[in-house]
Amino acid sequence: MAARRLWFDVGWLFAMGAELGSGRRAYCTSQAFAEVLRLPNKQLTKLVFPLQELERHFVPGSRPDLHLKIFNPSLDDIARAESVFTASSRNRIEYLSSAVRLDHAPDLRRPEVCFIGRSNVGKSSLIKALFSLAPEVEVRVSKKPGHTKKMNFFKVGKYFTLVDMPGYGYRAPEDFVDMVETYLKERKNLMRTFLLVDSVVGIQKTDNIAIEMCEEFALPYVMVLTKIDKSSKGHLLKQVLQIQKFVDTKTQGCFPQLFPVSAVTYSGIHLLRCFIANITGNLKTNGFQFS
Ligand code: GDP
Repeated sequence: MAARRLWFDVGWLFAMGAELGSGRRAYCTSQAFAEVLRLPNKQLTKLVFPLQELERHFVPGSRPDLHLKIFNPSLDDIARAESVFTASSRNRIEYLSSAVRLDHAPDLRRPEVCFIGRSNVGKSSLIKALFSLAPEVEVRVSKKPGHTKKMNFFKVGKYFTLVDMPGYGYRAPEDFVDMVETYLKERKNLMRTFLLVDSVVGIQKTDNIAIEMCEEFALPYVMVLTKIDKSSKGHLLKQVLQIQKFVDTKTQGCFPQLFPVSAVTYSGIHLLRCFIANITGNLKTNGFQFS
């Protein structure tokens, strides 16, 4: 274990992309992301920018309504964001506590982000993937749906707090609405809510529970499309277009760009880390392009 920790402390290095013939410049990054930077362009795009990879399937300029690059950080920005998520003796990433009511929640001043979605949408797996650079953090992933019954708080160094909300739908806790509604409505330091949608089935009726809460309390929220490794390109494209249409026409507070992710292949995970680091005020990027 000590050796592992040491690796994470010293595992930072300069990845000399230019040396690899890709024309990429030097990035100060983790060992893990250095390996990503060594991938051929096509594979790198698929892993780091999965939405843009889908773009290849359109005739250029044929879908101006697609929001592919509103958050479009450089590889340098993404590499820097990895440090926020990398555990070390100076950057402690750990489970803090659980709560069933807001008044039991830890009183924290740091910016907070929360993850919410139907039971079985892949929420625990996604959080585990986001914390893969902090392998000592225990995120329980269950084979049975309805595992997370409480709000679980994770501290990410001095940067922010991540909250894993109870799953809704099948086997949701009875007091789900009371618990979650109060949190969403009253948590002062909540910067962004990440609403997870299963890419295989798209937005379901039960997802309206969370969508309506976010809309009613005028919360800024973001849709994350999970399990993209399970869908064919065609199916994923169809879901992305449908959900973007829904976001454009039926929502006010939802960020227009979707974040497709896979906790199995890690596709989209680095970009999501960078987005979280950015919106919690811990990383300035030039990657936002609002028009
Ligand atoms: P939760 O109830 O929302 O926390 O969902 P879990 O993270 O426990 O995942 C539910 C099931 O989906 C588990 O069997 C996971 O192994 C599976 N799963 C989660 N994420 C992915 C993914 O990205 N790809 C695939 N293929 N399966 C996933």
